[in-house]
Amino acid sequence: MNYSDNYYTRTKSYKINSSKLNESIQCDVCIVGGGLTGISTAYYLSNLDPSLKIVVLEKNKVGWGASGRNGGQLIHGYSSDTFSGQKNISKQDEKVLWDFSVDAVKEVKKNIKKHNIDCDLIEGFLRAAASNRHERSLHQYQSELEKKYNYKDSVFLNKKELNEKFRTPFYQSAVYDRMCSQIHPLNYCLGLAKEALKNQNLSIYEDVEVSSYTSDSKVQIKTSNNIIITADNLVLSCNAYIGNLSKVLRSNIMPVKTYVTALEALPDKILKEFFEKPIAISDMFFVLNYFRLNSHNNLIFGGRVSYSNVDPIDVEKSLKNIIKKIMPGLEKYESICSWSGHVAITQNRLPHIGRLDPNIIFAQGYSGHGVALTTLVGKVLAQTIHGQTAYFDLFSKITHSKFPGAGILDTPLLVLAMSYYKLRDILGLY
Ligand SMILES: Cc1cc2nc3c(=O)[nH]c(=O)nc-3n(C[C@H](O)[C@H](O)[C@H](O)COP(=O)(O)OP(=O)(O)OC[C@H]3O[C@@H](n4cnc5c(N)ncnc54)[C@H](O)[C@@H]3O)c2cc1C
Repeated sequence: MNYSDNYYTRTKSYKINSSKLNESIQCDVCIVGGGLTGISTAYYLSNLDPSLKIVVLEKNKVGWGASGRNGGQLIHGYSSDTFSGQKNISKQDEKVLWDFSVDAVKEVKKNIKKHNIDCDLIEGFLRAAASNRHERSLHQYQSELEKKYNYKDSVFLNKKELNEKFRTPFYQSAVYDRMCSQIHPLNYCLGLAKEALKNQNLSIYEDVEVSSYTSDSKVQIKTSNNIIITADNLVLSCNAYIGNLSKVLRSNIMPVKTYVTALEALPDKILKEFFEKPIAISDMFFVLNYFRLNSHNNLIFGGRVSYSNVDPIDVEKSLKNIIKKIMPGLEKYESICSWSGHVAITQNRLPHIGRLDPNIIFAQGYSGHGVALTTLVGKVLAQTIHGQTAYFDLFSKITHSKFPGAGILDTPLLVLAMSYYKLRDILGLY
């Protein structure tokens, strides 16, 4: 399937040289899924051992999934701020996992600079509070960053200080983070894929759907048109789009649809009413709003979710209603395009990383927080195949629960549970 029509595909800077898969092949490592997790794994593995024959199989196009249609917020941390209930994770582990997420942001920036990837990297991020209750959580969050994690790159801003960066009638305070950033995610993903492809032993096959696999001393991967790939190791990086390929992985995640719209380039004079300069922002609602002004004056605004796969009747109108509350007047500007994508959420909102068989590893379930994490998790998967398993073992210690009746019964149950939290948001209880 070709790319969906969205802001990123319309402003794509790279075309990669993918290969055609016409016959059965053998390789050392087969990676299924050409999003940021799969491409990063391929990139790091080919750097660790250039002699390895690596094959990436992508059902659609590189970056077709969440990696090429997300909000572009390059932020640290995890979708859950807490590891409570994780009996295997010690206080020391928590700190290592936090540092990992900060390193993930740094690693993306390092790759962009090292390979000169054209993806509009802009530093600066606000986590904004729209109520006293949000502000209390924000204070707690900021003090955890400082005291628990010894993190120095963020600062609490009261309304007056917030006005110096973002003027809005909607938010009363924020935490400003100078390390967190924004990127054009599709261009980053394609830029990294292009870099990885400089190794002659690495091939990326697009429009190749994997329908099943079996594992013994080697893994046999079968495509939907019955071509067999025989590999020593298999990496599954299909995230929310895994479908029926692995029932075990699918049962640990819930694909949730979220929506984005991109406004036409806005006049400087209008933008100055709200923004001091381009910045990424997200708020603290259960169904959060995440948006950013890029260097081309486009406002890229994400919000709303569908747990039931039923779209809001008019995505653009629905998102513009929120834009109107946050930046009154901007809703009058034309939306170039609106789109949706699936995030894979886990029950505890922590990434799900592990091993299905001695020669099959996987990573999924970043719970809407994968723009930064995917790169470093890809490095971890590559290191694991190369025999260095420290971070992999740590992530594998996180315990996950299955969604009951995943794929059949889970959606109605989830709709019920999520509607409850949305209601709490509306009533001001959360
Ligand atoms: C609308 C939206 C907004 C988001 N905003 C943010 C944000 O601002 N910040 C943030 O940190 N995170 C955000 N996220 C989450 C982030 O985009 C993801 O966590 C991340 O991109 C996951 O990357 P991935 O490579 O694991 O999965 P994906 O990018 O989804 O890639 C999986 C790939 O696997 C392929 N595939 C699936 N099955 C098969 C098969 N059987 N055979 C071959 N190929 C297969 C798919 O075609 C797909 O290309 C957002 C997500 C969405 C959808």
